[in-house]
Amino acid sequence: LDPEEFRRQGHMVIDFLADYYHDVHKYPVRSQVEAGYLRKRLPDTAPNGPEPLEAILGDITHDIIPGITHWMSPSYFAYFPSSGSTAGFLGEMLSTGINVVGFNWMSSPAATEMENIVMDWLAKMLKLPSCFHFSGGGGGVLQGTTCEGILCALVAARDRALDRLGRDQIARLVVYGSDQTHCSIQKAAQIAGIHPDNFRAVPTTRVDAFALNPSALRAAIDKDIARGLVPLFLCATVGTTSSTAIDPVAGLCKVAKDYEHMWVHVDAAYAGAACICPEFRHAIDGVEMADSFSFNAHKWFLTNLDCCCMWVREPGALVRALSTNPEYLRNKGTESKKVVDYKDWQVALSRRFRSMKLWLVLRSYGVANLRNFLRRHVKMAKDFEDLVSADHRFEVVVPRTFAMVCFRLLSPPGLVAEGSTERANELNRKLLEAVNASGRAYVTHAVVGGVYMIRFAVGATLTEERHVAEAWRVVKEHATDLLASCGS
Ligand code: PLP
Repeated sequence: LDPEEFRRQGHMVIDFLADYYHDVHKYPVRSQVEAGYLRKRLPDTAPNGPEPLEAILGDITHDIIPGITHWMSPSYFAYFPSSGSTAGFLGEMLSTGINVVGFNWMSSPAATEMENIVMDWLAKMLKLPSCFHFSGGGGGVLQGTTCEGILCALVAARDRALDRLGRDQIARLVVYGSDQTHCSIQKAAQIAGIHPDNFRAVPTTRVDAFALNPSALRAAIDKDIARGLVPLFLCATVGTTSSTAIDPVAGLCKVAKDYEHMWVHVDAAYAGAACICPEFRHAIDGVEMADSFSFNAHKWFLTNLDCCCMWVREPGALVRALSTNPEYLRNKGTESKKVVDYKDWQVALSRRFRSMKLWLVLRSYGVANLRNFLRRHVKMAKDFEDLVSADHRFEVVVPRTFAMVCFRLLSPPGLVAEGSTERANELNRKLLEAVNASGRAYVTHAVVGGVYMIRFAVGATLTEERHVAEAWRVVKEHATDLLASCGS
C-alpha cells in the first residue's frame, strides 16, 4: 500500500463516484439485463498480472453499470430506501481505511467507546427510555442487519428461558409475530433451533390496518399454553415491510407481560428513523416495556449499508448467549469488567467500525436537518398519495403512515367479474412490470389480504418533488395504455 498511489487512485474513484451521482438519473432505474449477462462479458479467469485502475473503472462503466439497479437514483421508489449520503460514504471510507477489527475493547478502544457514545446519542434522539442507555443498565450495539439483531435477541431470550426450564425443553418454546412480520424472525427461529411448528404468524386484518391485534396475540398464546407450550418471544413491528403497518407496541407488551418471561423485540427497521421527529415518536410508545428495539440506519437515515442500530434492556442476556473467551483474546480491559466487548453482543467475532459512519452522519447533518430530511420525504409521499386519491381509476389500499404509499389500479367496470381478485391483481402486476421496464421509475409490490398492491416508497437521498411527479406521470401513462388494451 503506497500512500501516494493510494491518494492518486482514491481521487480517481471519488471522481468516478461523483460522476455516477451526477448522472445516476439517466440510467434505467431497474437494471434491464438478462440473467447471466455478466459471464458473457467478463473473462473466464482472473488476470495473471496487475491491471491499471483506469482499465478497471472503464469496465465498471461498460459492463457493471448496466447490471446495476440504481438504489441511488432519484426515481428509485422500490422496497425501502437505502439512503446513502456524502457523510455516510465518507464515514464508511474512514472506517474502511483505518480498517480496525474491533471485536473487543482492547482491539481498538475508540471503536467500542464511540459505539457506546453514538448509541446513547441516538437513544436520546429517539427518546428511548433510560433502561436502553448504558447509564441505565442497558445499551446499544451496531449490528450489520436487522436479521442479525433479531437472531441475537432470540438466542438471548432462548437461553434465558432454557436456563429456567432446562435445556431439554427447547421444543416447547414458541415465537410470535404476525402474518406481516418480516421473514427475518422465521429465519432466526430456524437458526435458534425453535421447533418448526412453533412459529406463530398471527393473522392480521384490514380492519386493524394489518397491525397485530393484542387480543389475537393473547388468544394465540393461551391456545399454546393450553397445549403445554411456552411463549418465548414476540416480534412487534413498527412499519411493516408490506404496508408500513404499526403494531401497537404498548398493547402487545402488556399482553406479553402477563406471561412473565416473554421477550419482546420491537423491529422498526424502516420506520424507526422517523421516530426522531416528535410527531412520529408515538409509533413506538410502549417501547419502555420491550426487551429490545432496532432500526436500520441504512434504510432511511442517510447511512450507507450496513448499519442496524439495536438496543437491549439486559445486555447480560446477550453476553451469556453469545460469549466465548479463548485464551488468545484475554486482556486487561476485559478483566477490568469496565468495558464492553462487542464480540459478545453479536454472531461474528470480527466487527467493523460502523459507529464512525453513524458519527459522521449525526455530526454532518445535526438532528434538525435529519428531521427535515425525513419530513420532506413524508411530504412528498403525501403529495403522491393525493395524486393517487384524486384519480378515480386508482385506490390507496391502506392508510399511509410514513413515506410509503400502497396503491393499485382499480379494475374497470365490466372487465373484472365481482370478486375476481386474481384478475385485478393481474392488472396491477402488468402495470408494475410496465413501469419498471420503462426504466423511468422503480417500484415494487406486496400482497396484503390477498390484494396485490404497488408500494411507492419515497426515501432515496436524491429524490425531489419533480421525480415524484414524473413517477406519477409514468404510472398514469402505463395505466392508460393498459386499460386501453383491455378495451375500456
Ligand atoms: N424488518 C423489517 C420490518 C424490514 O422491512 C426489513 C427489510 O426491509 C427487515 C426487517 C430486514 O432488514 P435487514 O435486511 O437489515 O436484515
